[in-house]
Amino acid sequence: MHYFSAKQFRDQFPAIHSQTIFLDSAATSLKPSLMSQASDDYYRYSGSSVYRGQSPEALTTTKNYELGRNRAAQLINAQSDKNIIWTRGTTESINLITQSYFRNNLAPNDEIIVSELEHHSNLLPWIILAQQTGAKIIKWPVNKHYTLDIESLKPRLSSRTKVVVITQMSNVTGFQPDIAQITLLAHSVGALIVVDGAQGVVHCPIDVSEMDIDFYAFSAHKLYGPTGLGVCYGKTELLAKMPPWHGGGKMLTEVNFEHFTPAPVPYCFEAGTPNIAGVIAFSAALEWLDTIDLPQSETYCCALIEYAYQQLKQLPGFICYSQPNSPLLAFNFAGIHFSDLGLLLTEQKIALRYGQHCAQPLMDAMAISGCLRISVMPYNDQQDIDKFINAVKFALSILN
Ligand code: PLP
Repeated sequence: MHYFSAKQFRDQFPAIHSQTIFLDSAATSLKPSLMSQASDDYYRYSGSSVYRGQSPEALTTTKNYELGRNRAAQLINAQSDKNIIWTRGTTESINLITQSYFRNNLAPNDEIIVSELEHHSNLLPWIILAQQTGAKIIKWPVNKHYTLDIESLKPRLSSRTKVVVITQMSNVTGFQPDIAQITLLAHSVGALIVVDGAQGVVHCPIDVSEMDIDFYAFSAHKLYGPTGLGVCYGKTELLAKMPPWHGGGKMLTEVNFEHFTPAPVPYCFEAGTPNIAGVIAFSAALEWLDTIDLPQSETYCCALIEYAYQQLKQLPGFICYSQPNSPLLAFNFAGIHFSDLGLLLTEQKIALRYGQHCAQPLMDAMAISGCLRISVMPYNDQQDIDKFINAVKFALSILN
């Protein structure tokens, strides 16, 4: 039974009651008490490692760790738990995909299509890969609305295309590309698709099996989980072709001084003692999230942003870069530097992001050097937005 009450939701998040109005969830979400409690319980009452000791605590820890993997698999409807590799976050997942799969499967002049919307985490690993392999990066540019046209993807696709790289949701504009259609198009020329789910996993649940996605990456910390933990999903047949990229304990079945035999997938990609507390805490967050009516909570978030937009657009010089019906709002005011406004808002205890949002190519396409962004989660409420709007008005009265 799924349920959403904004008040009850907010009550789960102690940090929301701090003095600062938190409107920066696209950077990282606040954490529900039950998440930190699960981490704390692990450290207090167990503290044992996984796949090593045989004590009752160690066995329970291993069981809980694997339960976390199962919940992550269910979240995105992976074929099995074995398709889920724990990483340090989206960034590391994409680097794993580029270095372990694509580095061994690209030849000079093969093409990698990367959208202009991408976060640096889904651009730099591909640039490094292109430098290593001689493959070429082909830009899929945004249009004048800072969204992507499927029609402009089609002429870029050819037999040389080996992979299409795409965000599920832009961290600047909130745009959600049609991943199902892009996947079909990529597959029609024999290319793979890699989806950056860092923002999308929070706001638009995905079914990687039904959509036939090849690789999918996301971070726990944007989805009520701890920092330093992420997921790399890969299709079974692709993961089977990937050599381990980090060597260390527990990623092997046997080793001598000449060679080693890798452990089965996914363990061959998880060298060393993993982020056990992180997985157990994230697992608790996912179990809780499974009780929430996500479509309803998302509608609530978009309504808060719409409420902010309706007021901001009445202020002179307001420029909006983000999509309607989105949980975030990216903006500037004509003639005012985003840093000046950002600083004055920060001084009034509004936590928001201003700058390039790790999306410099997108900023270039927008012909701006940066902008401000507010982003909400269901723990925010209308009062948060009211305080933000008052703070903007006050800042503008100083800057204008
Ligand atoms: N991709 C997008 C769209 C993001 O918004 C972010 C983080 O802001 C990342 C990737 C990188 O995530 P992480 O820093 O957790 O690896």
